[in-house]
Amino acid sequence: MTKKPPSLVIVGRPNVGKSTLFNRLTGTRRSIVTDEPGITRDRIYGKADWRGYSFEIVDTGGIVPDDKALIPTEILRQAHVAIDKAALLLLVVDSHAGITPLDEELARLLRSTGKPFFVAVNKVDSPQQESNAANFHRLGVPVFPVTAEHGTGVDDLLDAAIAEVYDGSALAEEDATPGDTNDEGGPVEIAIIGRPNVGKSTLLNRLVGEERSIVSPVPGTTMDTVDTEVTRDGRVYRFVDTAGIRRKGKTNLVAEKLSVVMARRGLERADVALLVVDSEQGVTQGDAQIASYAEESGRSVVIVMNKWDLAAEAARQASARDADTTKGRARRRPDEKHKFDEVDKSKLLFDYEKMVRGKLKFLSYAPIIFISAKTGERAQKIYPLIDQVAAARKRHISTPDLNRWLKEEVDLQRGSTPKARPVRIYYITQAKTSPPTFLLFTNQKQPLHFSFERFLENQLRGKFDFKGTPVRFVQRLRKREGRGRPEE
Ligand code: GDP
Repeated sequence: MTKKPPSLVIVGRPNVGKSTLFNRLTGTRRSIVTDEPGITRDRIYGKADWRGYSFEIVDTGGIVPDDKALIPTEILRQAHVAIDKAALLLLVVDSHAGITPLDEELARLLRSTGKPFFVAVNKVDSPQQESNAANFHRLGVPVFPVTAEHGTGVDDLLDAAIAEVYDGSALAEEDATPGDTNDEGGPVEIAIIGRPNVGKSTLLNRLVGEERSIVSPVPGTTMDTVDTEVTRDGRVYRFVDTAGIRRKGKTNLVAEKLSVVMARRGLERADVALLVVDSEQGVTQGDAQIASYAEESGRSVVIVMNKWDLAAEAARQASARDADTTKGRARRRPDEKHKFDEVDKSKLLFDYEKMVRGKLKFLSYAPIIFISAKTGERAQKIYPLIDQVAAARKRHISTPDLNRWLKEEVDLQRGSTPKARPVRIYYITQAKTSPPTFLLFTNQKQPLHFSFERFLENQLRGKFDFKGTPVRFVQRLRKREGRGRPEE
């Protein structure tokens, strides 16, 4: 016997359009006429199939008692058995009527079941109605504007239902670009990328040299592709394509080209990219180009400012020269020697970080570390950063946590451009990890403005730890018509 699909139970006061929505969801026309006296219609069952997933759809609440005070109890009584077995509750309300006391009472009763719960605001057929629909957010659960009559909004409702019941990953294949499959345990795969001579090989030696490491050819590739594995505190780190990192170009031009090819190749297989930059030279055009590949690849990134010994020394000398000028001497007491002290060092770090951030704006999420691969200074501190950004890449936030955050902590109007149509997000779910990708159900017919996405990303990062990993948003654009009319 096949397993029964999860139940989506429709609840609502009379005349809000429950039957029409039921028909729309199940794609059938229900045969029982509801307003005939004497017909008991406690529950009606149907089936919805959507994107390869099924739901049992249960419509409840057939008989309405004359005594108004009894209505909510009666609706709930009729829905009772169905609610017990429900995977998801759907309260249907009428956008023309606004929130009635009965809607509120039903919402309260449904909430008390502790089950996942959506509101479908029916009869939303004009922009005016859409803004009315927004009022229903007050009920404190995800709100979906629909027109059951025409099927508008029903797709989104079903998609969100799938996300809620089957987990957001159910929608991943369709909406997100494929991620890597290396999500369960296993080693962290790391690509060391950067321009020629920034110190990639030296860093690799430093990172693997002090550990027991094994070099292994990669199956199915040419002989020159080898990875190096290191075990550290029980964790396995695999540096990919280490032969490539060590290989040097014969001329500058060849080396430059090779470094780009190697970066792209390494990124394909990695979870984490260590973007190595020569601190003495600062961030060049070439660095920025390789950095942009890292960003596009969706890998987590750590910016490694190498040769910090040289940069610090240069700064110290410059400072000493400055101190030797007449002006500098005038500030010092005659017996006082110029020192490059801790304050100078931290100011130097601060200035450098600002410079790097300014040149690599698109990697604002990546942590920066200042090291010397040659002296080993701070090099081992790269490992905890790798752990951190690799974990962020695989982080999955539950749908209830995301929607609670969205509702309680995000003021969407702050992110909207003044003249644009105010953005509403009805529902958010994380469709996949590696990198974290969020599916948004909005009131927008056009893709979200870049600045709005940026705003949302910042808010998300302020709440959840996605340090070092890019995050992506995929927006479900609202379509005018939904599922085909049942009559057809
Ligand atoms: P790659 O082409 O990126 O692999 O760079 P290499 O690792 O071959 O390093 C290029 C040169 O920079 C070598 O001469 C290294 O000794 C030197 N180098 C690498 N890292 C450092 C560092 O942290 N400080 C200093 N002073 N020199 C470094």
